[in-house]
Amino acid sequence: MQVASTVYASRIQRFRLPRVCVAVVGEDPSKIIDRAESLVRDNPFLEFRLDYLANPSAALPKLKHFLDLHPEATVIATCRRVANGGKFKGSAAAQLELLTDAAAAGFQLVDIELQSAESLKAGQLAGLKDKVGVILSFHDFKATKKLEDTFADLKQYPADFYKVVSTATTLHDNVQMMKFLQAHSAEFEMVALCMGEQGIISRVLGVRAGSIFTFAAATRGEETAPGQVTAGELRDTYRIDMVDAATQVYGVVGDPVSHSLSPIMMNTAFRRETVNAVYLALHAKTLKDLMSCVHEIPIRGLSVTLPYKQEIVEALSNSDALTRQVGACNTVVRGQDGKLYGFNTDVAGVVVPLETRLALVGAKVLILGAGGAARAAAFGLKNKGAEVFITNRTAEKGQALARQSKAKYLKRADVAKASFDVIINATPVGMGANKQSPLEEKELNTKFLFDLVYIPAETKLVKMAKAKNITVIPGLEMFVQQGARQFEIWTGKPAPVADMAFVVSKALERMAAENGEADATPSNAPAKRSSKEESVPAKAVKVAKPNGKKKAKPAPPKPAKKAAKKAKKR
Ligand code: NAP
Repeated sequence: MQVASTVYASRIQRFRLPRVCVAVVGEDPSKIIDRAESLVRDNPFLEFRLDYLANPSAALPKLKHFLDLHPEATVIATCRRVANGGKFKGSAAAQLELLTDAAAAGFQLVDIELQSAESLKAGQLAGLKDKVGVILSFHDFKATKKLEDTFADLKQYPADFYKVVSTATTLHDNVQMMKFLQAHSAEFEMVALCMGEQGIISRVLGVRAGSIFTFAAATRGEETAPGQVTAGELRDTYRIDMVDAATQVYGVVGDPVSHSLSPIMMNTAFRRETVNAVYLALHAKTLKDLMSCVHEIPIRGLSVTLPYKQEIVEALSNSDALTRQVGACNTVVRGQDGKLYGFNTDVAGVVVPLETRLALVGAKVLILGAGGAARAAAFGLKNKGAEVFITNRTAEKGQALARQSKAKYLKRADVAKASFDVIINATPVGMGANKQSPLEEKELNTKFLFDLVYIPAETKLVKMAKAKNITVIPGLEMFVQQGARQFEIWTGKPAPVADMAFVVSKALERMAAENGEADATPSNAPAKRSSKEESVPAKAVKVAKPNGKKKAKPAPPKPAKKAAKKAKKR
């Protein structure tokens, strides 16, 4: 028995364990083994969820065969009981028997819940620990609370790893979880994270706070816990294997934010430019929650989206002149002094794609809408000398924006009578499941249409414009350009625009395919990823060249320090 214990101990040394353990599920032995076979090469650390099997005991001989064939794999057996959020209907004693058999079959680790340990007889858990590495776990499917009390209960039992999994209902819950990890990980082997969409911070950053590993789903749709991300996302998007104490944390904050493409775009940019940084989707239900999290993590920079673009301005130490003029901030940077400064890169997101195609001085531009995106467009284009017209569903709001930005208000009834160089759709009409167009065909009298909606890439308005041979500028370009400027403000490096555009257009294609949309490719979407040498600054984004004009020259980026300093001075 002692010999076996030493063997297992050597197999589960913390520094040998990969950071990502992939949960494998299947309702019968052949399915779970097939999944494991397809995963094990890239994921040598697997958790078999035996409770998903109709008859877990009967599956063990086949699982043993798999383990014999894969001595390189480190494998956890988990058979979570129904009462603790799993599917196993047996008693704690039946669970113990099954996990003991799993150990005999070759599993190096087993996961058993605190509640089961509490109902076992004295010494039974220690007996299990003699045979196999024990992860003693506690799951809270509702909240993150009483972590210290829970740990005090867990510590009463012998275990190789103590695992505490809670549910984040605020961003700040992640802070609590990471402080908890930091407090105990020097003394104990800890695994801890928050479930739920808001738990992403702890899933990615928990490993640097002391969690020995974290859990991931094999693919989307195979999640075994709420908010679980895939192993591919953890490794490729969030680069969890590289996260260390020096990794800077950035994020996109909004409500909702789960479908944002910013994480894939910005993490690609960080990876491409070898910046030691990670970018997360931060679902903040209140600004107060966000700010407390931003200060404690501490977060180096934020992309700000609905509904916080205006509200956040007041929470910052200062903002640059453009942000104050537009009255909205989509970019936050933490200065060397620890204070937060605001910028608006939505303006560049609208202006750059246009000025690479036409001269903006004197250009007639109609903006549909009077919200945040329309404000960025109106002020940005007026600053560039364009003749700006605004029309809006609620006339008073449109008139107010026209007054503030020194643009002209156009009644909707007059739109069809006029013609423009550019029409910009800054309304959500056409977005997502909305299949409407904000304009009728007879109102579409323009050389360029810039539809800021980018999900889907082919809106009804875009289709109408193409049918009329109008040059379409896809909303993806605004998205990429505003992100590129953010990257430059944060890092002082030129943004790898082509790579950013490539991953976003691929993600849009994937989303469109999932939604069964036929023509998913955005117009002007880059056909392939650039090489490192092709990495180009924001202003030189590769676009179609109407009128045979040259591409814009790269603009030197403003280094992060300088940018923050400039905002600070004002
Ligand atoms: P917002 O602040 O909520 O403003 C929405 C504007 O659209 C308002 O003027 C509103 O008119 C108008 N509107 C809403 N529903 C309408 C309808 N059914 N018919 C006619 N007008 C309608 O939103 P935002 O931040 O400006 O964003 C607007 C859109 O721009 C977003 O939905 C998004 O697709 C796009 N966007 C794209 C990017 C990008 O990177 N490509 C960035 C930001 C935004 P009222 O004043 O009458 O309410």
